[in-house]
Amino acid sequence: MSVIADLIYIRISTNFQPMKTKKKLIYSHKCDWCNRELILNGEDSDSYVVTAEYKYFCIIQTPGKPAERDCMKNYLENKKNKYEYTIKKKLEEKEEEQKEKEEEKEKRLEAKPRVLSKLEALSKEFKQRQFKNRIKDNQRFGTLPTKNPS
Ligand SMILES: [Zn+2]
Repeated sequence: MSVIADLIYIRISTNFQPMKTKKKLIYSHKCDWCNRELILNGEDSDSYVVTAEYKYFCIIQTPGKPAERDCMKNYLENKKNKYEYTIKKKLEEKEEEQKEKEEEKEKRLEAKPRVLSKLEALSKEFKQRQFKNRIKDNQRFGTLPTKNPS
C-alpha cells in the first residue's frame, strides 16, 4: 500500500472508532538503576521517583515499612561511594606527590654541602691566582705584596 493509501486508511479507521474505546497514552521510562521498564501512568502504573536530574527510579514501599525496592537509594549510595573513592584516590596521589617533593628537597640539602665546599675551593684557588698575579705584577713593577690573602 502506498503512503497516501495508508493515511486514508488511518483516517477512515479513526473516523469510525467509537468514542468509548478512546485510548489513553501510556508513558514509560526505564529505571536509571535497574533498567526495569516503569509504567508512569494508567491503572498498571508502577511507583517511581524522579530526581532533579530527570532520572527515574523504581520504589516499592508500603508506608511504615522499609522499602522493598529503592533504586534511588542504591543509585545514590553507589554515586557517593564512587565520589568518595575518587576523593580518596586524589588525596593519596597528593600525599605521594608531597612525599616525593620532600625527598627531593632532602636530596638537594644533602648535595648542598658538597656544592659549598666546591665553591670554597674555587674561591680559594681564585684568590691564590690573584695573589700570584700580584707577585708577578710586583716583580714587574718592583714592589712587593703586603699580605697573603689566603
Ligand atoms: Zn529500579
